[in-house]
Amino acid sequence: MDALKTLNADLHCHSAVSDGTLEPEALAARAKANGVELWALTDHDEIGGQRRALAAAAALGLPYLTGTEISVTFADTTVHIVGLGFDADDAALATGLRATRGGRRERAMEMSDGLAKVGIAGAYDGALQYVGNPELISRTHFARFLVESKVCADTQQVFRKYLVEGKPGFVPHRWATLRNAVSWIVQAGGLAVIAHPARYKFSANEEYALFTEFKAHGGRGVEVVTGSHSSADATRYTETALEFELLASRGSDFHSPDESHIDLGALPALPAKLTPVWTALQERIHAPA
Ligand code: AMP
Ligand code: MN
Ligand code: MN
Ligand code: MN
Repeated sequence: MDALKTLNADLHCHSAVSDGTLEPEALAARAKANGVELWALTDHDEIGGQRRALAAAAALGLPYLTGTEISVTFADTTVHIVGLGFDADDAALATGLRATRGGRRERAMEMSDGLAKVGIAGAYDGALQYVGNPELISRTHFARFLVESKVCADTQQVFRKYLVEGKPGFVPHRWATLRNAVSWIVQAGGLAVIAHPARYKFSANEEYALFTEFKAHGGRGVEVVTGSHSSADATRYTETALEFELLASRGSDFHSPDESHIDLGALPALPAKLTPVWTALQERIHAPA
């Protein structure tokens, strides 16, 4: 049991099927090389990379859980829900994700119009150059274009100056509902996890509502150790996990060797008093023969 608790699990990362730069096969190899012992690819609103990730992991002898990260609108804020261990052939999940992806193209064109108004021309076509999946143009692809074209020094600066609420390239968007996202995952046999909770700018009441409603819809986990959490964030959400009796997840949220400061598998362990999500997903793990 102790060995299971300290497993080097990395259950959050992105491939070129969403806004990562590496293909699923290259991510699998990087995870393996970095000592990851249980891996999940969690592309935004997409499961199109799951077969490839699973096959690549199996060939490397790397245990694998299916994964995705669903964009949700809750209290007028974008929240991400990670799904793990679902049936990748589930039709209702595929339909829900397709609906969630719909509208990204129009949103991107509006973002481009907003950027044009502050003198940045051609951002839509520029961002498209970095897109691996035509259904999944994201803010990350705009950020890559603005860095490559030297408008900004790095992606952090692009987000700060152009792509967050109130900035010229930000376009408000309605994503999936919390209820639907959790239901799609659960009905496909998976486990739903609140991703990187420290990133949302909720009031205490809103955060309480998020966790309460998430549980009421059947959600069971929360990311405690993740690329964007400080150690203080991890401590804070350890307490939240215990308070709400949630399983704890761990994932780098790796996107790219050039952009991500936390590499695959390079994370602190989950605090010992938490129960890892993978203890509840043992029968969903694709274990290499
Ligand atoms: P979208 O789904 O199009 O709204 O894009 C969201 C993605 O943008 C996230 O998954 C991150 O990969 C990236 N992102 C959001 N905020 C930042 C930030 N401050 N710095 C760098 N990347 C960010
Ligand atoms: Mn992303
Ligand atoms: Mn996220
Ligand atoms: Mn992510």
